[in-house]
Formats: sequence, C-alpha cells, structure tokens
Amino acid sequence: MKKTFVKILSFCLCLLMLATPLCSCRSKDSSDKLTVLCTVFPVYDWVKSITQDTENIEVELLVQNGADLHSFQPSFSDMASIKNSDIVIYVGGESDKWVSDSISENAVAVELSSIDGMSKHGISKESVASESEDHHEHDHDNTMDEHIWLSVKNAMIACEYICHVLSEKSEINAEKISQSAKSYISTLEGIDKALTDMCVDASSPVVFADRFPFVYLFSDYNIPYYAAFEGCTTDTNADFSTIIELAEKLDESEYNCVLTTESPNDALVSKVISQATKKNAEALALNSMQSLTSQDIEDGASYIDIMTANTAVLQKLFKAKD
Ligand SMILES: [Zn+2]
Repeated sequence: MKKTFVKILSFCLCLLMLATPLCSCRSKDSSDKLTVLCTVFPVYDWVKSITQDTENIEVELLVQNGADLHSFQPSFSDMASIKNSDIVIYVGGESDKWVSDSISENAVAVELSSIDGMSKHGISKESVASESEDHHEHDHDNTMDEHIWLSVKNAMIACEYICHVLSEKSEINAEKISQSAKSYISTLEGIDKALTDMCVDASSPVVFADRFPFVYLFSDYNIPYYAAFEGCTTDTNADFSTIIELAEKLDESEYNCVLTTESPNDALVSKVISQATKKNAEALALNSMQSLTSQDIEDGASYIDIMTANTAVLQKLFKAKD
C-alpha cells in the first residue's frame, strides 16, 4: 500500500516537473503577444490588413467556416479565446451580445455599433414582400440590423477607431499600424466614391429575391429596393403572393436583373423571374460575407475584393435596363 502511494506520488512529481517549464514558456509567450479577437470575417480582415508587417500581434476570427453569426453557439474553447484576448472586437447586436459578458476585465472591448459616427439601421421591413413568423412574434422596431460592415462608410470609421486602439496597445507597432490603416482607408474611400458616382441616378427599385442583409449598402447610396424577406430571417418560405408581388415589382423596375445574396433560394429566384411577364431577367448575387469558409479565407478572400465585386454587380445591374 505504502509502495503504491510512493509510486503515485513520484509519478505526480514527475508530471509536475515536466509541466512547470512548459507552463512558464507558454505564459511568457502569450504575455509578449497582443491577441486581437474579431467575431466576424469583415472585421477580422480589416484588422489583418491594418496589422500587416507588425510584430507580435495575433489576429483571430471567432465565427468561422460559414457558421451563422445569428445562431452562433460558442464552444468552451471559443469562450476561452475571448477570455484570453487582449482586444475583442464585435458588432454589438442581438447575435453577439453575449460576447461582452465573456471579455476579460483587463481587455479592451470594441463594440463596433457604439463607435461615434457609425450609421445604424433597423431591420428592413418597409420594402419587404413577405412578413416572417419572427416579424409577428417580435416587435422589430428597435432591433438593429447587424450587418453594419456592409456600409463602406462604416468600415472607414471602424478602421480609424481600431487603428487608434491598436496603436495605444502596441506602441512599437504604432507607426506601421497608422501607415497601413491610412492606405487601407484610402482604398475604402475609392470604393465609396465609385459607389457614390454610380448610384447617383438610382431611382428605380431593385428587386431582391432573397433575404436582405444589405440595408446599410443600399441606404448609404439611396438605392431603392424591394426585398422578399427582412434582414437575415431564417423563415424564407415565400408564399405565392410574395412571388407575384416581386414579379410585379420586377416588371415595373427599370432593371432587367434580380439580386440575391451569396446563398440564394434558387427555386424562389426562378419563380420570380418566370412570373414576370414583361421581361426575362438575369439573377446576380451580392456577397454579404456571411458564408465564407476557412478555405476561402486561406485562399485570400478579402473585404476589399468582395466589396469591389459587389460594386461591379451593382454596375452591371444599373446598366441592364430594358
Ligand atoms: Zn445575417
């Protein structure tokens, strides 16, 4: 009995001796690094771009691999990542409200929707054909639409703010961060200018045969729209009257195109197009950056490229007149 006890004790001591140097190495490593955790891809990409060429800044993405922000369930390791991060950047809407409760007391919490000057919109429902179940159950009047990254103007304000926070937390990298942010924001300004010039005459409603997470993009440039479903509702079963309503709007619209998100309901799109009697419209997709996989990110997907592609889609739409 005594022998067994001594054996166990010495085994435990061995483990302890092995573990101690490992632990001390780890804590040293992590204390040297500034870890920045972002909840969604666009924000992760902004921070990656602003911190390129810096040392000891690690940027992590929380909601990965096409997971849905709106129904995201954090795992224990996700909670640990939030707790261990020095800076946590999140939207601050209904879907990621829980993030703020998990941030360490010593960390900097950046709630994007609270930054001065950021535009905020409610979930679109005025120009929506179908009323979802959610819509009946909840009063959406005060519910903020969470897709604030789809405003290039918001992206510029957010990058400026994030640059300020990062420079304060990492003085040795402040110069590089400021330079990268300046050049990144000037690229965003280019996209904003292209959109402003292009949308100046947009007066005919654009038919959106899908959910509508683009209220920020469309509001920034006063593009009128008529969408099948509000925000990012999961209730996307269109009844016949919704299809007919959208088809009628398409017939009235100047444009010979129907827009969708990056993951459209193809059956709905083709029904809307076939019910329109005056034209044979083409379907074009705008990317809301909510379905990107880890592979897409590894392959170099970027906010700038996606918003540039979205700009090209709108340009194609405006040119596709009767
Ligand atoms: Zn969404």
